[in-house]
Amino acid sequence: MSKMPRKKVYCEKCTDEIKYRDDLTTARLFVEVVPYHNDCYAKDLKSAKTFFLDNQPINGTSGNFLGIISVFFILFFLLIVDGLEQIVAFAFVIPLLYRVYSYVVYERHLEK
Ligand SMILES: [Zn+2]
Repeated sequence: MSKMPRKKVYCEKCTDEIKYRDDLTTARLFVEVVPYHNDCYAKDLKSAKTFFLDNQPINGTSGNFLGIISVFFILFFLLIVDGLEQIVAFAFVIPLLYRVYSYVVYERHLEK
Protein backbone atom coordinates (compact mmCIF):
# COMPACT_ATOMS: atom_id res chain seq x y z
CA MET A 1 0.00 0.00 0.00
CA SER A 2 1.34 3.39 -0.91
CA LYS A 3 1.56 6.01 1.75
CA MET A 4 -1.09 8.68 1.50
CA PRO A 5 0.04 12.26 1.94
CA ARG A 6 -0.71 13.34 5.46
CA LYS A 7 -3.66 15.58 5.98
CA LYS A 8 -3.12 18.21 8.62
CA VAL A 9 -5.53 18.32 11.51
CA TYR A 10 -6.26 21.61 13.26
CA CYS A 11 -7.69 22.07 16.71
CA GLU A 12 -11.24 23.38 16.92
CA LYS A 13 -10.34 25.63 19.87
CA CYS A 14 -6.82 27.03 19.43
CA THR A 15 -6.57 26.37 15.65
CA ASP A 16 -3.00 25.04 16.04
CA GLU A 17 -2.04 21.84 14.30
CA ILE A 18 -2.57 18.59 16.20
CA LYS A 19 0.45 16.41 15.55
CA TYR A 20 0.06 13.24 17.56
CA ARG A 21 -2.77 10.80 17.96
CA ASP A 22 -2.17 10.72 21.71
CA ASP A 23 -2.90 14.43 21.86
CA LEU A 24 -6.11 14.20 19.83
CA THR A 25 -9.63 14.12 21.19
CA THR A 26 -12.49 13.98 18.73
CA ALA A 27 -16.02 14.71 19.86
CA ARG A 28 -19.42 15.55 18.52
CA LEU A 29 -20.32 19.22 18.26
CA PHE A 30 -23.96 19.27 17.19
CA VAL A 31 -23.86 16.61 14.49
CA GLU A 32 -20.32 17.38 13.35
CA VAL A 33 -17.14 15.61 14.49
CA VAL A 34 -14.48 18.10 15.60
CA PRO A 35 -10.82 17.55 16.54
CA TYR A 36 -9.22 18.99 19.67
CA HIS A 37 -5.95 18.88 21.58
CA ASN A 38 -6.70 16.93 24.76
CA ASP A 39 -6.28 20.06 26.89
CA CYS A 40 -8.36 22.22 24.55
CA TYR A 41 -11.19 19.71 24.68
CA ALA A 42 -11.19 19.84 28.46
CA LYS A 43 -11.32 23.65 28.32
CA ASP A 44 -14.14 23.73 25.79
CA LEU A 45 -16.14 21.28 27.89
CA LYS A 46 -16.12 23.92 30.62
CA SER A 47 -17.09 26.73 28.24
CA ALA A 48 -20.53 27.67 26.90
CA LYS A 49 -19.97 25.19 24.10
CA THR A 50 -20.60 22.40 26.56
CA PHE A 51 -24.31 22.58 25.67
CA PHE A 52 -23.48 21.36 22.19
CA LEU A 53 -20.24 19.50 22.75
CA ASP A 54 -20.55 15.84 23.64
CA ASN A 55 -18.65 15.04 26.85
CA GLN A 56 -18.01 11.53 25.55
CA PRO A 57 -14.96 11.59 23.25
CA ILE A 58 -15.31 9.55 20.08
CA ASN A 59 -11.72 8.34 20.04
CA GLY A 60 -9.50 6.93 22.78
CA THR A 61 -10.09 3.97 25.05
CA SER A 62 -13.69 4.74 25.94
CA GLY A 63 -14.56 5.56 22.33
CA ASN A 64 -13.04 2.32 21.10
CA PHE A 65 -14.91 0.42 23.78
CA LEU A 66 -18.20 2.00 22.70
CA GLY A 67 -17.38 1.15 19.08
CA ILE A 68 -16.87 -2.51 19.94
CA ILE A 69 -20.05 -2.58 22.02
CA SER A 70 -21.93 -1.03 19.10
CA VAL A 71 -20.72 -3.72 16.70
CA PHE A 72 -21.74 -6.35 19.23
CA PHE A 73 -25.26 -4.93 19.64
CA ILE A 74 -25.76 -4.46 15.90
CA LEU A 75 -24.84 -8.10 15.28
CA PHE A 76 -26.92 -9.24 18.24
CA PHE A 77 -30.08 -7.43 17.16
CA LEU A 78 -29.71 -8.37 13.49
CA LEU A 79 -28.69 -12.00 13.90
CA ILE A 80 -30.16 -13.22 17.19
CA VAL A 81 -33.28 -11.13 17.68
CA ASP A 82 -36.30 -11.64 15.46
CA GLY A 83 -39.00 -9.25 14.35
CA LEU A 84 -39.50 -5.60 14.98
CA GLU A 85 -36.92 -5.50 17.78
CA GLN A 86 -34.26 -5.71 15.09
CA ILE A 87 -34.83 -2.02 14.55
CA VAL A 88 -32.91 -1.41 17.79
CA ALA A 89 -29.75 -2.26 15.82
CA PHE A 90 -30.02 1.07 14.05
CA ALA A 91 -29.61 2.92 17.33
CA PHE A 92 -26.07 1.53 17.45
CA VAL A 93 -25.22 2.22 13.83
CA ILE A 94 -24.91 5.96 14.40
CA PRO A 95 -22.28 5.83 17.18
CA LEU A 96 -20.38 3.28 15.10
CA LEU A 97 -20.46 5.55 12.05
CA TYR A 98 -19.13 8.42 14.15
CA ARG A 99 -16.34 6.18 15.44
CA VAL A 100 -15.32 5.17 11.90
CA TYR A 101 -15.66 8.72 10.59
CA SER A 102 -13.38 10.08 13.32
CA TYR A 103 -10.75 7.51 12.43
CA VAL A 104 -10.92 8.03 8.67
CA VAL A 105 -11.03 11.82 8.74
CA TYR A 106 -8.66 12.61 11.62
CA GLU A 107 -6.94 9.83 13.53
CA ARG A 108 -5.31 7.96 10.67
CA HIS A 109 -3.52 11.14 9.52
CA LEU A 110 -1.70 11.57 12.82
CA GLU A 111 1.45 9.93 14.11
CA LYS A 112 1.05 7.64 17.06
ZN1 LIG B 1 -5.83 23.18 20.69
